[in-house]
Amino acid sequence: MDFEYTEEEQAFRQEVRDFLDENLTAANRRDANFMANWLKKVREKRWVGFSWPKEVGGGGGNIMQQVILKEEMASRKAPPLGTCMMGLAWVGPAIIQYGTEEQKQRFIPDILDSKYHWCTGYSEPNVGSDLASLQCKAVREGDFYIVNGTKIWTSLAPFASWISLLVRTSSNPESKHEGITALLVKMDSPGIEVRPIEIMAGGAVFAQVFFDEVKVPVDNRLGEEGNGWKVTISSLANERSSIGEVTAMYEKLERLKELVRKSRKNGKPARDDVGIRRQIAVFEARIEAMRLNGFRYLTKQIKREPLSSETSVNKLHRANLEVEMTDFAVELLGQSGLQLRDQEGAVDGGSWATAALSWPDVAICGGTPNIQKNIIAERILGLPKD
Ligand SMILES: Cc1cc2nc3c(=O)[nH]c(=O)nc-3n(C[C@H](O)[C@H](O)[C@H](O)COP(=O)(O)OP(=O)(O)OC[C@H]3O[C@@H](n4cnc5c(N)ncnc54)[C@H](O)[C@@H]3O)c2cc1C
Repeated sequence: MDFEYTEEEQAFRQEVRDFLDENLTAANRRDANFMANWLKKVREKRWVGFSWPKEVGGGGGNIMQQVILKEEMASRKAPPLGTCMMGLAWVGPAIIQYGTEEQKQRFIPDILDSKYHWCTGYSEPNVGSDLASLQCKAVREGDFYIVNGTKIWTSLAPFASWISLLVRTSSNPESKHEGITALLVKMDSPGIEVRPIEIMAGGAVFAQVFFDEVKVPVDNRLGEEGNGWKVTISSLANERSSIGEVTAMYEKLERLKELVRKSRKNGKPARDDVGIRRQIAVFEARIEAMRLNGFRYLTKQIKREPLSSETSVNKLHRANLEVEMTDFAVELLGQSGLQLRDQEGAVDGGSWATAALSWPDVAICGGTPNIQKNIIAERILGLPKD
């Protein structure tokens, strides 16, 4: 494994740093136009959809450059490169890989321009970890599919214009992965009802979405009928080196150290407490382990080898680490660690309490810890199936 960057990579890092020096206004000095200008500028640089092919409007960048871009952006706490998060993370890559020319032209420019939000309709009230058991149904009638059923925990559904939906178009008792189809559905289609769900930390970014005789043009099918499982798996496999997440974890550690510096324990500065110092060192060592493990994935990606089960290691590691770091901060803060946002006595804008109540974001979303453990046990360690 070569840990050195090439001259070209170092030059690219410098280009990103220069751009940030010139265009990244400090968070407390940003005016109302900042975000619109920022999105326009990063788009002009072709840093939105950085690794997507140039023909569809992406940057055509390579994996190492993408890592550098993510690292630099995260270390300077820059805003995201686009606000169409799900579009950029997996809907866009899936359309690029499986979409028709017409679908690429219709959707990709809007995703790159952050025109609206996408949401993802996979989970159902009785279907989560075992996603292939999904029941939301679509029946073909001429040039349309008629969709009936419900999806739940659909992030961003209250604000999204489109949903990337998995439906069942046929059943095969031998294989539940067959007969699943991916549809791209407009959220204002007649027959769709969005019921927001409030979360513990406040606000309603989730919803349960109901489909009652919703007509979806066949032209909005992504990939072949019955091939939706493949479409989903390959698009979710996009960008999984976890290097970007490591930078974010180091950021969180810095905030934690800052908190320790300004806190007291048993009447003395918290930074002098041996237990606290040791715990901070343990967190740092674990983040570094995650970074080095991420290089393994990166090496495979550079060699164009497919990534599979091994990414579960960092996903599980990160979920545990994030929850433990947040709990540590809340405990250190004592009573004020429980105060949210504008509540009296809230520290750091109540962000630690909010993070503590948002643990499902890192732990459940994208596969629960138990599921990651099963993957590691069965597919990496070769242990018997449970
Ligand atoms: C923040 C957040 C955002 C989300 N956003 C979306 C979204 O945008 N779109 C979407 O479709 N879904 C979304 N989800 C839903 C998410 O994908 C599911 O919650 C997740 O897949 C788990 O499914 P479930 O809730 O049905 O739990 P279940 O699958 O019922 O699991 C319940 C418990 O049983 C355990 N378990 C299940 N199967 C096994 C097994 N085989 N072996 C051992 N233990 C097992 C699980 O680990 C868990 O502890 C989101 C969830 C969260 C928390």
